[in-house]
Amino acid sequence: MSYCVSTKRMNEILKALQKDYKIYAPVRFEKRGRYSDTDLIRYAEINSIEDVVYDEKSHFSPKEVIYPITQALFYFTEDEYRESKVDDKKILIFARSCDINGFRRLDTIFLKNGGTEDIYYKRLREKVKFILMECKESWDSCFCVSMGSNKTDNYSLAVRFDGDNILVEVKDHEFINLFANEREVEFTPEFVTSNLTKVNIPEIDSQELLEKIYNLDMWESYNSRCISCGACSAVCITCSCFNTLDIIYSENGRVGERRRVQTSCMHEDFTTMAGGWSFRKTAGERMRFRTLHKIYDYKLRFKEEHMCVGCGRCEERCPKLISFSSTINRLYDEVEKLKKGEVSRTREQASSTEEGK
Ligand code: SF4
Ligand code: SF4
Repeated sequence: MSYCVSTKRMNEILKALQKDYKIYAPVRFEKRGRYSDTDLIRYAEINSIEDVVYDEKSHFSPKEVIYPITQALFYFTEDEYRESKVDDKKILIFARSCDINGFRRLDTIFLKNGGTEDIYYKRLREKVKFILMECKESWDSCFCVSMGSNKTDNYSLAVRFDGDNILVEVKDHEFINLFANEREVEFTPEFVTSNLTKVNIPEIDSQELLEKIYNLDMWESYNSRCISCGACSAVCITCSCFNTLDIIYSENGRVGERRRVQTSCMHEDFTTMAGGWSFRKTAGERMRFRTLHKIYDYKLRFKEEHMCVGCGRCEERCPKLISFSSTINRLYDEVEKLKKGEVSRTREQASSTEEGK
């Protein structure tokens, strides 16, 4: 069933929902953007429908609602342990199709990876229902269609902002009574079917080809460009790397808490181990890892889909203007050349040329 709801009535409905739910949506934080006098749009709890920023893409993804940047997991003394608590209320998230599809990737990583469910993720994730925000058009950097994440049916409500009214599709019977007095209309959300940005995903069908990709010298171009800041991971709906830190309270050195803190595989010291060994020493090696993780090995492991959903946030956020869609397309071109046997300089070839000088 679908309804046309005035802004005033929608706010009354949100008030009623707030008895049981915390409601999150993209919200504008004025003058908090990355450049002076620019705004930041990120997810936060809302109190009215006017808080929802629906005509701009949020700079950060909604993952922070259930996978916070920093989160206490448990507290300890020398002989006791207490798990951290979460709010009793359920969670409603206004989200776009790419992000709802992105949550499925996070679910896979946190709940289906290695046979163990992450209890700290699960206890929040199982509270979540989605309100789909319709995208009738995409933004310049989106490539959701190429990644197959432009559509979803995983939502309880879907909304279109239409002047002073909101069109709402109610799919979840839990919410139907809230709309009993509203005017019924014909409305089902539309989805974008093409983007300005398109990517070609390389087909990597052998270990031999993978090894050649590993040695492509295209990765080295990122050594001088990427500053390993991790901004791309911070905004990505499908990046899930974290560190765990034990914080000992200064008042009593035997009492403390363990925190989970988001981090990034793009950080310089991400793979540094005891003794100082590091698996990925250069920015190019880290870019290679991130790219292949997003469009090759996640799918190889979990079968269904690639990890990247094509939201385009990473390239909008990168201070060095590194475009992830261009990186994927560049890799595709290199792989095509390798498949055709055309010369595509690899690091090995580069070093043998150097040696032959
Ligand atoms: S890698 Fe970039 S485009 Fe892909 S899901 Fe993450 S932020 Fe979005
Ligand atoms: S690709 Fe851009 S955002 Fe990501 S670590 Fe490198 S410089 Fe930072």
